[in-house]
Amino acid sequence: MKFVDLYAQYQTIREEIDAAIARVIADSAFVRGRHVADFETAFAKRVGVEHCVSCANGTDALYIAMKSLGLRDGDEVITTAHSWIATSETVTQAGGQPVFCDTEQDYFCLDPSQIESKITPRTRGIIPVHLYGQPVEMDTILQIAKRHELWIIEDCAQAHLATYRGQMVGTMGDAATFSFYPGKNLGAMGDAGCLVTNRDDVADFAGLFANHGGKNQHLMEGINSRLDGLQAAILNVKLAYLPEWTEARQQIANFYDQRLAQVPGISIPNRRPGCGHVFHLYVIQSTQRDALREHLRELDIPTSINYPCPLPLLPAYRCLGATARDFPTAVRHAENILALPLYPELNEKDMNRVVRAIETFQRKMTDDPGPSPHDTHADTFTAGL
Ligand SMILES: *Cc1c(COP(=O)(O)O)cnc(C)c1O
Repeated sequence: MKFVDLYAQYQTIREEIDAAIARVIADSAFVRGRHVADFETAFAKRVGVEHCVSCANGTDALYIAMKSLGLRDGDEVITTAHSWIATSETVTQAGGQPVFCDTEQDYFCLDPSQIESKITPRTRGIIPVHLYGQPVEMDTILQIAKRHELWIIEDCAQAHLATYRGQMVGTMGDAATFSFYPGKNLGAMGDAGCLVTNRDDVADFAGLFANHGGKNQHLMEGINSRLDGLQAAILNVKLAYLPEWTEARQQIANFYDQRLAQVPGISIPNRRPGCGHVFHLYVIQSTQRDALREHLRELDIPTSINYPCPLPLLPAYRCLGATARDFPTAVRHAENILALPLYPELNEKDMNRVVRAIETFQRKMTDDPGPSPHDTHADTFTAGL
């Protein structure tokens, strides 16, 4: 069994993908060009925004978005303690300082109630991350941003087509960024990304900045972060299938929910009411996480931990002097989370195998509970760092 099977997806649309690749080669439209323009138009329409500016990857999209919103040296940006490092490293790259907030107990996302205590005169913006495909509590964050005149960049790298109370994620902030890394819900066959926005000024700046600040008439210095034609053509083919693939993900999540809800010792992921979770990852929690993971590994069932350490406690951020006590929820989640195999082509036989393997583990634990979770996990963060 695979955690994500990209080849299985390719086989379902092989002819279309091969033809799209052949067309790009026939056109020799390798960097930017027609296929890139077509994808930008189609993706903006799909999300429901005015502009899509493509770039090389989802990390650059965050950096470009912050430069476009005028981030300057010494500015502070508030973001979540629980994400991929791209979310915070780009703040530093753009000249700013990431300020981390703890997460919600129920949803793994940035906890809006923690934000205002982190705001200082230097705060410029907030980057909420729709983590695992679950929309962030945007209403509260939008109110805070308005009250303090802060911008919002939605990090939608894991949340293509997720909805928050009827609104598509990526349409609510000043800008939003997407990754099309191969394993994301919409994935290229290499690196790719974009930012979307309804703000003309942000789109204009981002389009120039991502491509050396313009062509011949360089209005400023920029960077080289361009989408290539092959990736755009592949993404254009896949975009048409994204709604059905998203539904398939949700159905697999429903299956896991139903089968795992009653298993003692396992918590299934909560879903924010009124929102459309798109399950980039299906993340359960267990205080016996490491033993469960090992049990599944022995049965050839791959799992993943996203992410094993909260961002502020990584060695990269030692300079901030944060401790596990500052981020109790993110720390607890990091110790207990486990992502199960989930991709649109996952078949029912494999889904059943995953569920049965977890049931077997829990039965074994009930008969022989072993050491308490506190003994096994107590010093994860202090010992490792
Ligand atoms: C994948 C990811 C990114 C970065 O995207 P890349 O295309 O890999 O550069 C940023 N934020 C989050 C939350 C991600 O999952």
